[in-house]
Amino acid sequence: MREMAHCVGERAKALKLVRRFAVACFDAFFPAVCCGCGRLFSVPRLPDKSCEPSGEPSFSKLMRGYLCAACASDYHAVRSPVCVQCGEPFVSRHGLDHICGQCHEHPFCFHSARAAGLYQGGLREAIHQLKYHGRDHLAGPLGRLLWQTLQHFWDPSQIDRVVPVPLHPSRLRERGFNQAHLLVRQWPALAAQRKMAIASDWIDSRLLVRHRPTSPQIGLKKDQRATNVSGAFGIASGRRLGNDRVLLVDDVMTTGITANTCARTLLRAGAAEVRVITLARAV
Ligand SMILES: [Zn+2]
Ligand SMILES: [Zn+2]
Repeated sequence: MREMAHCVGERAKALKLVRRFAVACFDAFFPAVCCGCGRLFSVPRLPDKSCEPSGEPSFSKLMRGYLCAACASDYHAVRSPVCVQCGEPFVSRHGLDHICGQCHEHPFCFHSARAAGLYQGGLREAIHQLKYHGRDHLAGPLGRLLWQTLQHFWDPSQIDRVVPVPLHPSRLRERGFNQAHLLVRQWPALAAQRKMAIASDWIDSRLLVRHRPTSPQIGLKKDQRATNVSGAFGIASGRRLGNDRVLLVDDVMTTGITANTCARTLLRAGAAEVRVITLARAV
């Protein structure tokens, strides 16, 4: 009996070695290409947990099949102290969250804005590859990062409607997808995993419309940014918001002018409040 148990144990050990060898051969012949630096790398095989024990999203774990270790570790999560309204991290890393001078003088229309990480390093590269190089498969891990960020800051069940910032139809035709919509496409499934009851139109990509094409906000001066998006957004014909709490979703927030213009439009259409969540915060 003892001999039989020993035999089974040896066989399991041998199978483990064969499996490890097969995985090493597969990695050697089919390494992944890093979306950040373009180098070949072996995908680390780690337990499939995409959150740190603290509950904070783990960028490197989510991106492990897409970014090499160096690019994945070049990630800077937005951490307190931040402005309670616009979410901008303060240069001084001491003290509690409080309102920044800008929001104190000229408050935004939205209630508050939060982002997963700074628009730098691996996160910036991943967003670039998604938006400008058609790597829409990156919306999977980036969308999960955004979902975890949402759960980190707020309770998703307190949100009645998720509204991605729309693209103008001409830009949509050119790009083939709206990255903000792709980021939230898997959220109903993630909400179902949490046993969260959501309406069938929880993700509402047709509510907000962009009337005219606008230039990318990054690269413009502050006054040009305001003019660029002024009057650019509207509500789809015949739609109203019945006192809904809205979450506006975008990939990057720079000055917050786009988010503010969208929030004003949503509030005028009847939204009770608008919160903003983005993958990255440009500082
Ligand atoms: Zn890399
Ligand atoms: Zn602020």
